[in-house]
Amino acid sequence: MSLYKKLAAYFIAVMVIFCVAVITYQYRRDRLNHIATLNLTQQTQTQFIYNYLHSHGDSMVYMNALTDMLEKQHTRITVIDLSGNVVYDNHISDTDSIEDHIDRPEIVSARKHGTGYDIRSSASLATPGTNYYYFAQKFDKYYIRSSIVYDSHLAASLQGDYEYIYYMIALFAASLGAVFYIVRKISKTITQLRDFAQRTQTDDELDTNTNFPDDEFGEIGTLITQNYKQLRKTKKALAREKEKLLAHLQTSHEGLAIFNKKGEQILSNSLFMQHANTITSDTVTSANDILNEPEFEPVANYLHLSQSADCKFHIDKNGRIFSVQCVRFSDGGFEISIIENTQQYQEQEVKRQLTQNISHELKTPVAGIRGYLETIIETPDISPQTRDKFIKRAYDQTERLSNLIQDISLLNKIDNRHPMFTREKVNVRDIVEGIATDLSILLEKQHMKMHIDISAGLDITADATLIYSIFRNLTDNAIAYAGESTEIYVKCYHTDTTSAYFSFRDTGTGIPAQHLDRIFERFYRVDEGRSRANGGTGLGLAIVKNAILMHKGNITARNNPQGGLEFLFSLGL
Ligand code: ADP
Repeated sequence: MSLYKKLAAYFIAVMVIFCVAVITYQYRRDRLNHIATLNLTQQTQTQFIYNYLHSHGDSMVYMNALTDMLEKQHTRITVIDLSGNVVYDNHISDTDSIEDHIDRPEIVSARKHGTGYDIRSSASLATPGTNYYYFAQKFDKYYIRSSIVYDSHLAASLQGDYEYIYYMIALFAASLGAVFYIVRKISKTITQLRDFAQRTQTDDELDTNTNFPDDEFGEIGTLITQNYKQLRKTKKALAREKEKLLAHLQTSHEGLAIFNKKGEQILSNSLFMQHANTITSDTVTSANDILNEPEFEPVANYLHLSQSADCKFHIDKNGRIFSVQCVRFSDGGFEISIIENTQQYQEQEVKRQLTQNISHELKTPVAGIRGYLETIIETPDISPQTRDKFIKRAYDQTERLSNLIQDISLLNKIDNRHPMFTREKVNVRDIVEGIATDLSILLEKQHMKMHIDISAGLDITADATLIYSIFRNLTDNAIAYAGESTEIYVKCYHTDTTSAYFSFRDTGTGIPAQHLDRIFERFYRVDEGRSRANGGTGLGLAIVKNAILMHKGNITARNNPQGGLEFLFSLGL
């Protein structure tokens, strides 16, 4: 049943009940009023009769004279003594034949209240089917009762008035119209709200400009619309955040899976599955299965038993160490993260390789020096020219050794945040121009040009020797690898509140793309022979990268679309 019909039915039912109650009450009141008026007339009469009787010594002998005089032949006058015996009746002369009247309702009432009335047929008169209206009043020695035929005329005069019933019906009809109007108005707003709510479920791009009426319902409607708009905005923002989160999850270095309280996976990234499969002996195809794997028993136990906030443990799988963590959320859901303990693992690996690399790097110059010196010692008749040449070569090797030691030492200092590095105001342009001056002869010899586009006012808080090292190594490399007649462009292309952003590029040939990520590794060289021939230690770019990291910056390398290698890096202000 629609709300409109329901409301209308309720209102009509209430109105009908109300009208019936009012009509019944009013009708009864009218009737009682009419009876009271009649009773009053009768009472005047009985009082008159009493006065008459009393003045005639209470003798019934004169009663007929009185009734005649009153011309009340149609009115039956009965006098009943206090015991209930009829002592006079103008319609029945043989009063002895009349039965005791003490139990007549009007007499009973008169005995109690002074007066009483009743409507019924007569037991004393032989008038079957005729009803009488009886009125009785109690006096000191008797009851005087009058009765008249209760005919249709009298009955009608004692009924309630009907006029107001018509009035009530007219009022009812008018109110009905008003009820329909009000109910239609209310239900229209509510139906509008319901339709709106229904549409919100299916239509995402819902038109929220519904016109609600200017009342409390309208206010509710407007509030719901506003809340809905806010909700839609939040939902969109949430979807965007979720998208970002998912994108972030996929690129995260952490294997991550989120589950609901039933243990069903809500989302997970590919690294999670990768790590999970590295750890487990079985092949896990879904994150949901992971809790059944023996390696993840601590997580299952934690979820079943433990009250603590999280659970963390390590798994050693063939030398690879994974750190597994499970965090329970307040809604009963949980998250499992798997991180390969790369830092520890990689640091050890890097150290191992570094020792290997250093000994390898040392071997070549030391063997060279030794070879030259041995030849000189073991060949007494060596010509002075050859000897000088060998000594010169041995000297060159020592220079190489010393460069290597210098670079290793610098890298060590950066790694350990050596206290010799200070933080002072450094003007970047002054430093880069200083480098251009220091290397001017070499640049000229190679027919190279260096273009510096750095604002004179760019000061950063940094260690001047390291900033020098950064730009010096990059310039040395450009001279060494970009080659003759190329150009170098150094530019500060952007600054913000935290950092200055630089581009350092040459117009050489660049390097094959697969090496771009690796050139910052220690001792990594693209062209081994060329690097060594240039006296390179393989540590230049590692120094650059670490010095930049120490200055809250970052560096990447790319082949510039116009040719040549380009380094893009930032330095914290
Ligand atoms: P190296 O001592 O060998 O120069 P670096 O760490 O400075 O060591 O550089 C690593 C490698 O990157 C170099 O061996 C070289 O192959 C390559 N490289 C560096 N700068 C350039 C450049 N401007 N153009 C081409 N290749 C470069």
